Amino acid sequence: MRARLFCDSSGDSILAPLSGADVRIGREAQEEYGEDIEPPVADSRTMGMSCLIQGRELEFPVGYTPPSWATVFASDEDLPHRGHDPLKTNFWWLELGGEDDSIHDTERLRDELLAAAFGVWDHMKNRGDHGLENWTLDWVGFVPGKRESRRYLGDHVLTQNDVRAEGRFDDIVAFGGWSMDDHHPGGLRYPGRPTIFHPAPSPFGIPYRCLYSRNVPNLLCAGRNISASHAAMSSSRVMGTCAVIGQAAGTAAAIAAAHGVEPRGVYEQHLGALQSALMDDDAWLPWRVREVSATTRAATLSTADAEPLRNGVDRPWDGQDNAWVADADGVAEYTWADQQWLERVRLVFDSDLDRTGRNMPACYPRVPSDYRPPACCQRYHPAPAGMVRDARIELRGADGAWQVAAELRDNHQRLVRLPLAAATNGVRLVVERAWGAETARVFGFEVE
Ligand SMILES: Cc1cc2nc3c(=O)[nH]c(=O)nc-3n(C[C@H](O)[C@H](O)[C@H](O)COP(=O)(O)OP(=O)(O)OC[C@H]3O[C@@H](n4cnc5c(N)ncnc54)[C@H](O)[C@@H]3O)c2cc1C
Repeated sequence: MRARLFCDSSGDSILAPLSGADVRIGREAQEEYGEDIEPPVADSRTMGMSCLIQGRELEFPVGYTPPSWATVFASDEDLPHRGHDPLKTNFWWLELGGEDDSIHDTERLRDELLAAAFGVWDHMKNRGDHGLENWTLDWVGFVPGKRESRRYLGDHVLTQNDVRAEGRFDDIVAFGGWSMDDHHPGGLRYPGRPTIFHPAPSPFGIPYRCLYSRNVPNLLCAGRNISASHAAMSSSRVMGTCAVIGQAAGTAAAIAAAHGVEPRGVYEQHLGALQSALMDDDAWLPWRVREVSATTRAATLSTADAEPLRNGVDRPWDGQDNAWVADADGVAEYTWADQQWLERVRLVFDSDLDRTGRNMPACYPRVPSDYRPPACCQRYHPAPAGMVRDARIELRGADGAWQVAAELRDNHQRLVRLPLAAATNGVRLVVERAWGAETARVFGFEVE
């Protein structure tokens, strides 16, 4: 296959053996990067893979007959440190393969994992009183989910020490926040605790130099295979982090294509453009403030409490809420002494990303771990209750009257961009209503 640029997000780095890109597999020795999480001597052991299961509670008792080849877990002693209450675990510890070849042994490991999965359900249903008479096995994952295999080597290798130091890199393009969740390579075969959660700051930054190969010039990578040590990867591998890494790699690829440069050229010549493009697309780069357009900054704003709308930070951060709280028909208005040409408006609403329930109805859960949308929210609010549902953008005409230029109806997006293409000396956002709360929260209102 021929292409000018490749981005390998295959998890297993399938392009590495085809391209000769430098990769790493397994755990580094402690002294290599000065990491105390790693073993004293380097090895090729990884975190394992899993075939997950999902149970469902019915209103009547239901039996379970395992296949003859299911693994037998005769008593709870056969599953030490592996809590198996289906309300409290997703069975992530059904894990094998860290001591095998996590790429080429997958088929055999899948068979072992399925035997273990059906065996664990048999244990819960038939071996000891687990109070699960009404539970049925609803779903089994037949393709093992992998945690770790080949990692590319980039111009930088993210380490445990980078993570602990918050990763405040000049070329930050993504962030993580999960602990360094270092699963034991033995998985189910290891009787001790299946993982150690080594603390990590939340957030920590991830630099762009971890997102491209150091020796194959047209190769980007994204996901769990970025350039990171085993210890750092035990945090950066989680889904939300992989997702923002993917956005960064994709945006970098677009910039590389537009300017006819290689991924490294984006770092050397277009890093500012990459970071600006990401922030404009509502990616969050911790410790960075998005540059607000000069037109917006030069405007007179109608109410002082709406200043967060143009402060370049679109989420609660560093003790600041960074939101304008709008009542029904709340208005935020920019005016200028002279006519301005406005090409577009950019809005950022509060989609309650961190599930804190800010500005939610009183019934809304406040503690993330208790998060279950209450019945009233499920029924009435397909979007978070404090999110703007209906709003309009109005422009001031030559006669001073306000004219509707754009309308939002049943909005459920956090980032909204609308074309204006008009000359005016005033623009305003009128928030008509939120999805369920009395007030709506808006992080950004910007024109350019
Ligand atoms: C059991 C388990 C539980 C987990 N629990 C959590 C959790 O609770 N929260 C969390 O955030 N993270 C969790 N993780 C970690 C997280 O899910 C993974 O690290 C993450 O999904 C990795 O994403 P990825 O896209 O980099 O790789 P992968 O998820 O491995 O995706 C790679 C994709 O590339 C495809 N692919 C491979 N080769 C080719 C090819 N030749 N052509 C086309 N496509 C190809 C694969 O089919 C696959 O879809 C868990 C992981 C596992 C295994």
